[in-house]
Amino acid sequence: MSANTGLLTSRCDPFGAESRIQMLGGLYDERHRGQYMWHCAEPAIGRYRMICTGGDYGFRGANDGGIVSASHCDGGHQGQVMALCEVHVAEFSVGPPKPGWSKDMRTPHGQVGGTKANEMCPACAFPPEARALTETANALQQQMAQYQAYGLMSEFARVQGQQDQIRARLDELHQTGRVHKCPLILREVS
Ligand SMILES: [Zn+2]
Ligand SMILES: [Zn+2]
Ligand SMILES: [Zn+2]
Repeated sequence: MSANTGLLTSRCDPFGAESRIQMLGGLYDERHRGQYMWHCAEPAIGRYRMICTGGDYGFRGANDGGIVSASHCDGGHQGQVMALCEVHVAEFSVGPPKPGWSKDMRTPHGQVGGTKANEMCPACAFPPEARALTETANALQQQMAQYQAYGLMSEFARVQGQQDQIRARLDELHQTGRVHKCPLILREVS
């Protein structure tokens, strides 16, 4: 790969707002761009990327009274390279701010189209299994709504049973630390 020779004259481009957002391997597309649909007018002082710090997670005993060992995350997930100005380097170097989840423990606050870039690693917060399960859960939810609207209660109950299993598995992923919130740190790319 050739160097980015336009560095010294390039504008600050947090999240690749001028191209398309590609946080952590294109996990997010334009739908999640949210409030970052603006351009920063400051000149970039360097190229940076977010790195996942890793950590230890998981907090539940097993049903049989044993202990579920905490998940260890090696971290190392990398965000896309961003040209950043001094202000944004400072902003993204602070933190991470307190991560949070919605009451049902399924939706992280902030990170997705949210207010802070460095809140948590999306690859850790949305591993493939959790993403697939969440998609299935959403589809089942729509099905249930339709069955309910048409009064098809036995079908509703059947899908609800499937849904309960999906939700239980998702809960398990959270509780055992498979889904977790790794902080991100900003590193300069040489
Ligand atoms: Zn900037
Ligand atoms: Zn990560
Ligand atoms: Zn992690």
